[in-house]
Amino acid sequence: MGDSSATGARPSAEVTVDLVGKRALVTGAGSGIGAAVARKLAATGAEMLLVDRVAKSVEQVAEETGACHTVADLSEPDTVAELGENTDIVINNAGLQYVAPVHQYPPEMFQLLLTVMVQAPFRIIRAALPGMYRNGWGRIVNISSVHGVRAAPLKSAYVTAKHGLEGLSKTVALEGAGHGVTSNCVCPGYVRTPLVERQVSEHAVRHRVPREQVVEDVLLSRTPIKRLVEPEEVAELTAWLCGPSAVSITGSSFELDGGWSAQ
Ligand code: NAD
Repeated sequence: MGDSSATGARPSAEVTVDLVGKRALVTGAGSGIGAAVARKLAATGAEMLLVDRVAKSVEQVAEETGACHTVADLSEPDTVAELGENTDIVINNAGLQYVAPVHQYPPEMFQLLLTVMVQAPFRIIRAALPGMYRNGWGRIVNISSVHGVRAAPLKSAYVTAKHGLEGLSKTVALEGAGHGVTSNCVCPGYVRTPLVERQVSEHAVRHRVPREQVVEDVLLSRTPIKRLVEPEEVAELTAWLCGPSAVSITGSSFELDGGWSAQ
């Protein structure tokens, strides 16, 4: 790619994976990484069910990719558990961020982040596994974060949830190993999505500094490769983990973080 700027470039070489005949579920598919994964999986030939709580955005991505969609709120895991049924591929992607010091962290926000990012993936995987075991094939990719393997101040719920998701993913990997089911995590650093754009804007307003300075001095301060990751890069790795080259890869976590977690 030869690109070290903060503005970055999209990956030029694409992973080719054939997932024709496979049914995939992508949560949080209306925006950012989820939308990029939906576009990539559409290109692999997989049939897809896209899920998001925001109707307009998930409708748009579904129309663009020829997928089915459903509007559902993953903070109510009882109502979304059945989404995992009859699914060959699960991409647990939906997530959110809330920032505050632990001693001021609202307990209801802590609960919400854990519900959406751990409880809902558990319920969806739990519903998907019996069908995957019957078919002897399944792929689960959990979109974790560098915060699944590294803590950060002010992000207690997010760090806790992503560490929990990592544990869930590894446990599913061990249980699914004899059934043709793999389970892995993708752990991005900062990706150029609305979730990050919001954090940049809030920081810029709070500290009265330009947005570009927030990206360079705050977001990328610990990242040796000085660029934001593009959503398409996460989608490429996710698709590859669903393909035949990754058949022996399970219980793994892939840091896609420009070297952040190498330090
Ligand atoms: P985003 O805000 O662009 O998209 C998240 C999507 O999830 C949105 O469409 C949102 O509506 C949906 N969602 C949130 N809560 C939901 C709920 N309760 N029910 C249903 N849908 C819900 O964010 P993104 O950056 O694309 O993040 C996607 C995933 O990637 C998240 O799990 C996030 O933690 C992870 N991640 C993001 C970054 C980053 O820098 N952007 C880095 C590491 C990990």
